Amino acid sequence: MALLGGLLDKFRQGLKRTQDVVLRPLGHLLHLKRLDEGQLQEMEDLLLQADLGVHAVDRLMARLRHELKRSGEVDPKAILREELLKLVQGHEARPFTPSGTQVLLLVGVNGVGKTTTLGKLASRLKGQGGDVLIVAGDTFRAAAIDQLEQWGVRAGVEVVRNQMGGDPAAIAFDGASRARAREIPWVLIDTAGRLHTKDHLMKELDKIRRALQKVIPEAPHRVLLVLDATTGQNGLKQAEIFSQVAGVTDLVLTKLDGSAKGGVVVPILEKLRLPIAFVGVGEGLDDLIPFNAEAFVEGLLDA
Ligand code: GDP
Repeated sequence: MALLGGLLDKFRQGLKRTQDVVLRPLGHLLHLKRLDEGQLQEMEDLLLQADLGVHAVDRLMARLRHELKRSGEVDPKAILREELLKLVQGHEARPFTPSGTQVLLLVGVNGVGKTTTLGKLASRLKGQGGDVLIVAGDTFRAAAIDQLEQWGVRAGVEVVRNQMGGDPAAIAFDGASRARAREIPWVLIDTAGRLHTKDHLMKELDKIRRALQKVIPEAPHRVLLVLDATTGQNGLKQAEIFSQVAGVTDLVLTKLDGSAKGGVVVPILEKLRLPIAFVGVGEGLDDLIPFNAEAFVEGLLDA
């Protein structure tokens, strides 16, 4: 666990609201060796409130009940830790290692924290030693473009933009061309977050894809879907649509710190079957951290 060090602290920071609202009341139950039916029920309700999802909670409770029946005594915290780890382990994202010029598309509906994530990610990748170019591909939101420029300044990276209402595919092409010519390893592209219809979204992303591939045939190398943890499982339907039409490769879960539903990591991994590359745990430049199964479970249970 020492290995996790700072990451665990960041997960604790990110899961604080979930702990305060839901998991702290769970604390006294986690240390009981024998639980009666009323206490089991209370535990079940609290786990459901943390948005762990019915499937996971059923599984956790079944294991507890089984162990209680078998040996009369249990260590609830150890059982929860073990079962939760089984549910979230093995979903680690491929590392973000530079190789030529790689293009990352960020998709997701407005308000989820896409612009903020772009800024933080740019800073993170730059901190790893590679230069970054941000492309303001959501050309309909003047405020988002300005905000991106501010993030660009904070992260110390260049932001490419065109005029309001311009063609997102054209600016994506421009960005990829510049990055390739200057051997910049990372291009991060913001995309429109208006979810008009599935068709509309698909057409717009296809157009961006085709434009990018004229410059770099393998682009986009990764498509990151940004999800807002505060919407809990309610955001899952939308996420499913995006992952169907956008060729999503990785997830980013924002605002974990602002959500009492931090448990939503579990149904997200179960339903979308995509790795969570990063989680957002605050509004600062370094508040985007790689998802780590052990740190997540420890942060969740260590109330
Ligand atoms: P966009 O519309 O998807 O581009 O969303 P923004 O990036 O503008 O973010 C919407 C709001 O969420 C802003 O007030 C951000 O500061 C906030 N936000 C984004 N990510 C996080 C996070 O991880 N934690 C917290 N607490 N706030 C966040």
